[in-house]
Amino acid sequence: MNSKKPVWIATVIACTMVSCLLLIPGCGQAEDIRGLQIEKLEVEIEADPENELLEMTSFLHMRIERSIEDCSFAFLQPSEITRVYDARSERELPYEINPYPGAGEGIYELSLDLSKCGEECIVALTYRYDGESFYAEGLNPTTNEGLVLGQITRDSIYSSHLFYYPYSGEARRASMRIVAPRGWIAVSSGELVTCEELQDGMTLYEYEIPFASGRLPYPLAIYPYEVTEALYDGRLPVSIYACQEDVPYSEEKMELVTGTILPFLEELMGEFPFEELRIVEVFPKTGMTGLATKSLVMLSQDTLFGEPIAGDYSVFPATVLVDEIAHQWNYYKVMFPNYLAEGISQYTSDLFTERYVDPDIMKERMATYREAYANVVGLLAALKSYKDNGETIEEVAERLGLSVEEVEAYWQYADYGEVPISDPNVYLSLYFLKGALAIDALRNELGDETFFAGFRSLFQEASEQEATLDHFEQCFESACGSSLGAFFQRWYYETGLPPQ
Ligand SMILES: [Zn+2]
Repeated sequence: MNSKKPVWIATVIACTMVSCLLLIPGCGQAEDIRGLQIEKLEVEIEADPENELLEMTSFLHMRIERSIEDCSFAFLQPSEITRVYDARSERELPYEINPYPGAGEGIYELSLDLSKCGEECIVALTYRYDGESFYAEGLNPTTNEGLVLGQITRDSIYSSHLFYYPYSGEARRASMRIVAPRGWIAVSSGELVTCEELQDGMTLYEYEIPFASGRLPYPLAIYPYEVTEALYDGRLPVSIYACQEDVPYSEEKMELVTGTILPFLEELMGEFPFEELRIVEVFPKTGMTGLATKSLVMLSQDTLFGEPIAGDYSVFPATVLVDEIAHQWNYYKVMFPNYLAEGISQYTSDLFTERYVDPDIMKERMATYREAYANVVGLLAALKSYKDNGETIEEVAERLGLSVEEVEAYWQYADYGEVPISDPNVYLSLYFLKGALAIDALRNELGDETFFAGFRSLFQEASEQEATLDHFEQCFESACGSSLGAFFQRWYYETGLPPQ
């Protein structure tokens, strides 16, 4: 271990995973095209693991009130687009595909000319991904390790989402029809309405998804899973999908989730916000997957799923499970911006540790976060000076004993340095750290009773509401009956850490 590494990187703090939500541009910030409404998105998928192939057709049911010449979608570039057409008239639709501005490699923008489509139109796209073209990866900002979002291999197929976001005019709901080889199970969000053996040795799974598109609404996992099921509190179906050898871990997780995590989180945030909870083991070739989509959590076999918990709630697989399930309230039910969501989530799993592992953990945790925060700020400043001297990423990586990927992750943020965590240019791990510290400071200021009342009230909104920092502040102000303006100013709109 290199002593120059920031603590945040060097110490695997067992309370943190990212839900990878940042990595998807466009989602959640729908720039509405006025006059266009997507009533429903229907996706048909044929999975061919043998040939590492996903064949897809998407039908977008649109209501168009005026002529629209340019309607755009975020899109993971397929290996091939076979056809783009109006499903009613069978007429081909002109389209263009270009790199998505400011996004990472592989993310494209598909623009369609809908000017000749009628008022009610169904736009159909036929395309395919193969194992080579479909490899989504991001960087986990808290460990700076690869966070794998999806892969197509002969052994398994999965994706945190379909990378198919109409960001101009959101889809209100969706259905996914997935055809997979017999013996394989296809998992997604929403209600499983059909599971049917087809004649050609394939099985059809159909999910009706009542959610609007936006934040990771269409996950997908296909594998010969073994399913462990339970009904939590007589009302919430919980299913855990794992490979056969890992069924003991499913059983252990089921006990933890239904016996401890769900009661804990419901006490903290109110009733579970969706109709079901699915936990799915996935199998990236390298790297790690740990993410939350709406009502479904994905965990890689390596590190997160296929590791024992054995009653020790401080281990990484346990705390990550808490973090990802907590995102169902925080980020999905109440749609906080990422910088708030991750601070809340970090603190939520700390609360879990405090309750079930060590009642004195907070002090120690907060000290670690302060140190880590200072280290990241210091690293950003150092990088800025090397960068200004004209050094390359490779040179700086060598100088600091960091990997090129790690330095790359910080590189663009070095120009901004330390900024308030509500600033869009803030380096990601800073808002995990300062976000959690801010919430702990708030708790110390308000006292437990008021704090927990305010915390719970954050999540009493109607489902799938966008929420702001103002909402966050108001919930705590209502709970304590006085203004917290100065507190929020210090923590969220200024740089630096207020003293303990
Ligand atoms: Zn998280």
